Amino acid sequence: MSGPFGAFRQFVLKVHSRCDLACDHCYVYEHADQSWRGRPRVMSDETVTWASLRIAEHVKTHGLPQVTVVLHGGEPLLAGPERLGRIAGELRAALDPICDLDLRLHTNGVRLDDRFLDVFAEHGVKVGVSLDGDRAANDLHRRFADGRSSFEQAIRA
Ligand code: SF4
Repeated sequence: MSGPFGAFRQFVLKVHSRCDLACDHCYVYEHADQSWRGRPRVMSDETVTWASLRIAEHVKTHGLPQVTVVLHGGEPLLAGPERLGRIAGELRAALDPICDLDLRLHTNGVRLDDRFLDVFAEHGVKVGVSLDGDRAANDLHRRFADGRSSFEQAIRA
């Protein structure tokens, strides 16, 4: 039974709700709705557990062979490698036995380093890095709060 809207096959988990960039086009942090200021910075362990269980329940209910889960933010790397490892591990434990889990993370790349990459390799997390274009295009909007460019970090990532 799929219900009137069918089954969800992609889930975006906002695991960290702040960012280390201040892109002027950011639809979350740089516009009129500033309600994010009153929300938790990081997704709690309890919420991760419930999200994993509820996605698993959805997969079973709809008999889905495959789902995609994207770890997102804000900037998800601000959650740190240990927490991201716990999150990925919990999702894998809940979903690997019942479906093909396509697990991804989307980042601005500024903090991406070997500590994170080791965790992502261990848990099979694919990584996407945002870049607005070449240096000129990227520097139009994708900057730190003090105006510095993020281009070099994104290219390195
Ligand atoms: S990197 Fe993304 S979340 Fe962060 S300020 Fe830029 S658009 Fe917003």
